[in-house]
Amino acid sequence: MIRPAELIQRKRDGEELGADEISELVLGYGRGEIPDYQLAAFCMAVYFRGLSPRETFALTEAFIASGETLDLSAMLGRKVVDKHSTGGVGDKTSLAVGPIVAACGVPFGKMSGRGLGHTGGTLDKLESIRGFRIELTIDEFVEQVRTVGMAIIGQTAELVPVDKALYGLRDVTATVDEISLIAASIMSKKLAAGAQAIVLDVKVGDGAFMKSLEDARRLAELMRSLGEQAGRRVVCLLTDMDQPLGAAVGNALEVREALETVRGRGPADFTELVLDACSRLLALSDLGIDVAEGRLRAETAMTDGSAEQVWRRWLEAQGGDPDESALERAPVVHEVTAARAGVVEWLRAIGVANAALHLGAGRRTKEDTIDHAVGVVCQRKRGDTVAAGDVLAEVHARDDASAQQAVREVTAAYELGDKAQGRRSVLLEVIE
Ligand code: URA
Repeated sequence: MIRPAELIQRKRDGEELGADEISELVLGYGRGEIPDYQLAAFCMAVYFRGLSPRETFALTEAFIASGETLDLSAMLGRKVVDKHSTGGVGDKTSLAVGPIVAACGVPFGKMSGRGLGHTGGTLDKLESIRGFRIELTIDEFVEQVRTVGMAIIGQTAELVPVDKALYGLRDVTATVDEISLIAASIMSKKLAAGAQAIVLDVKVGDGAFMKSLEDARRLAELMRSLGEQAGRRVVCLLTDMDQPLGAAVGNALEVREALETVRGRGPADFTELVLDACSRLLALSDLGIDVAEGRLRAETAMTDGSAEQVWRRWLEAQGGDPDESALERAPVVHEVTAARAGVVEWLRAIGVANAALHLGAGRRTKEDTIDHAVGVVCQRKRGDTVAAGDVLAEVHARDDASAQQAVREVTAAYELGDKAQGRRSVLLEVIE
């Protein structure tokens, strides 16, 4: 029988723990035998000392062993692919990728999470669609993927329950942003859900957990190696999160933008990322095609209306109203204008995210309720040239007071200068 205090002390002093010790600690916590305060202290020791690759794999396996696992590929008789983002601002990628990949004939069954802090969550975005059910039974989920081609649901309580409990604890003890804890948390969910090939979108920049390319590379390599030790193919896209992805930040606003992108009319940077993720998912699938052919097929699905048809069938299958006009709109819209002529040198993702959060688009605590209608639409992005008085962004708010505060925050997120910037692609690097 392990003594948690001793494991905390050994980790605090930089020792490597055995796989059995990590497993007992995590599973004991899951059974309620080890209290929150000891796991909190353990996470803080890990925050400062990190985990070795062996310890990280043991942690991932212990998370998976805390609940049930799913073998979607066996249930569907197809190779199932999955995607996951490490979390960013304006990141509605799964909403657009799912219908496009499904329209190309590849089953897409995904379990998503909620937003916390400044990052948005796919489930919150989906709940801005009237009637949409994020809770399906596993049987309903599998059946919908079989018949409609796709489903996105909430993480079920049966899969990786310890990660859910520990994530809540990490969130309130300042221990979320540690690479081995993030890698084990994300990969345990992906591996337990049964996809054989996974595209991971690792965000880099001021609106992401990973602030530098170097840290993002370390996280990507670690997640890829955890996947490969478990026999899965993993491709990591390192993508820019210094500015928001696309234009919209806020739940219903992002659903509209995702639909426009599915129709081939989305913002350039977001469309680029969606096409890249789709083409790699298609190349990893059982279609037997390469990335270039995957891209052609994804583009065709966007322009010939087939991806939009899947979008409608998907929403209806989960009880959602596919009529765009049913999406809630905020009653107050204020413009953010350029105080001078120049070039947008910076548009800080974290500044826009905080403005959206203060408007009510996100949660500061797990108990907060979300206002699905509010948010920010960034009409100008890094590298755009503007004249004095041009509209940079729109703030969608519940009332005038919150709109005025958000206008101040979004204004501060923009930095106008005189230097024309070379445009940076949203896709920074691929690790495969
Ligand atoms: N997303 C997760 O699922 N877990 C983390 O630890 C961080 C981001």
